[in-house]
Amino acid sequence: MIDSAIVRGVAVEVGEDGAITGVGAATAADAGAVIPGLALPGMPNLHSHAFQRAMAGTAETAGSGADSFWTWRDAMYRFVDRLTPDDVAAIGAYVYLEMLKAGYTSVAEFHYVHHEADGQAYADPATLSLALREAAGSVGIRQLLLPSLYQTAGFGNLPPRHAQRRFVQATDHFLRLYARLCELETPGLTTGIALHSLRAVPLSTVREVVGAVTAIDPHGPIHVHIAEQRQEVVDCVSSTGRRPVELLLDTGLLDDRWCLVHATHVLGQELEGIVRSGAVVGLCLTTEGNLGDGRFPLDELHAAGGRFGIGSDSQVSVDPREELRLAEYNLRLWRERRVVVRDPATVHSGTLLYRAAAAGGARALGRPAGGLHVGADADIVVIDTHLPGFAGVADEALVDQFVFAPRPGVVRDVLVAGQWQIRAGRHAGEASIEAAYVRSLDRLRA
Ligand SMILES: [Zn+2]
Repeated sequence: MIDSAIVRGVAVEVGEDGAITGVGAATAADAGAVIPGLALPGMPNLHSHAFQRAMAGTAETAGSGADSFWTWRDAMYRFVDRLTPDDVAAIGAYVYLEMLKAGYTSVAEFHYVHHEADGQAYADPATLSLALREAAGSVGIRQLLLPSLYQTAGFGNLPPRHAQRRFVQATDHFLRLYARLCELETPGLTTGIALHSLRAVPLSTVREVVGAVTAIDPHGPIHVHIAEQRQEVVDCVSSTGRRPVELLLDTGLLDDRWCLVHATHVLGQELEGIVRSGAVVGLCLTTEGNLGDGRFPLDELHAAGGRFGIGSDSQVSVDPREELRLAEYNLRLWRERRVVVRDPATVHSGTLLYRAAAAGGARALGRPAGGLHVGADADIVVIDTHLPGFAGVADEALVDQFVFAPRPGVVRDVLVAGQWQIRAGRHAGEASIEAAYVRSLDRLRA
C-alpha cells in the first residue's frame, strides 16, 4: 500500500541504516527476491505497559461492590508487588514477540515501575528500564522507552500511597535516569519521557521536567495519560478549576512532540486545542473498553485534521486490527451509523484507519512519517493475501478485509529496520521466549 493506493509489482530498497532508500516498479532483476502478498507500513504501538500482559484476563470477576478502573488499578498494584527484574524481562520479550507477530513493528513503552518491591531504588536505578530495552532488542521490535515520572497520589500534591512505592521518583533522580537511557540509545532503541498523569505529577514539575529534557533533546517525545476517567476530570476541576486537557493547554507546553494517551473526556474547545497543538491522541480501545473509561469522539478529531494512533496499553489485546475495528465500532454504536470516520482521500474505512494510525503512531514515537516511501523506516508487514478469506477481494478493498474480517495467520512476514524478524509467521527465538514467560507466570500466579 502506497499512501492509500494498492500498487502491484513494487520493489523496495533498504539502506544500511534500516531506512527505505527507493520505491519503484519491480524489474526482471528483482525476480529472485519476490515476497508475495500485501505489504503495509508496520503499525506503531504507541502505548504499552509490557508487564500488564501477565495480568491480562485475570481481573474479570465481579467484586462485592461496583467494579471500575479504580478497582482494576488496585488489582494491578497487588500484581506489581511481586515482579522481579527477570519477570519484567521475560514478560517484556513475550509481549513484544506477540506484537511483532500481530503486525506491530514498534512500541512506545510507558514504563513506571522503577524500584525494588520495598520501594528502594535498585543498585542500578535503570535496572527495570534496561530489562525492557533488552527485551525489545532481543526480539527485534523497535522501541521508544519512556521512563515515567510519578510523584503524587492525586491533584493537590496528595502524598503517594504505599501501593505506589515502586513508581515514585524525585525529579532529579528521574532526569538522571532519562539522561542515562539517552546515552545508551541505539538507532532502534530510543528514549523519550512520560509524565504519568496530571494527578501524579504537579504542574510545576511538568514545566521543570519538560524544560530539562528539551535542553537534552528538543525533539524528544513526551507522553502523558490524560482525562481517561470522569473521576479524574472531576478531581482536576475541583482542585484547579480546569479540566485536565484544558490545564495542559494553558501551560503553553503542548506541541507535536506530545502524545495524549486516552484523552477520553474532552469538550469541543479542548479537542480544538489538541488539533492546533499537533499532539497525537493515543487511543487504546480494547483497554478503554475493558476498563469502562468512556467514548472518545474520534470522528470529530479526524474531521478537524487531528492526529491519532493506537496502543495495546494493558495488553488485553495485542492486535492492531482489533484496536482499529473497535475505534470505528464504538462510533457506530454511539452515532447509530456506519463508516463514521471519513476522509476525502479514500472511501475505504479499513484503509483510512490503518493509514492514519500508522502515520500518527510514527509521529508519537518520534519517527519519520510512516509509509512505503523514501526516508521512512523500513518497517513493513506482509499480509498473506493468498489465504481463502481474500479470494475475489478487489485490490482496493484488501485492507478493509484485513482490518474488519480478521482471521488467524494473515500476518506472514515482518520486517523491522530492513531485517526480517518474522518469517512465515515464526520468530527464530520463539521457543525460548515462550518458555521463559511460562516460568515467570508459574511463579507469579502460584
Ligand atoms: Zn496506560
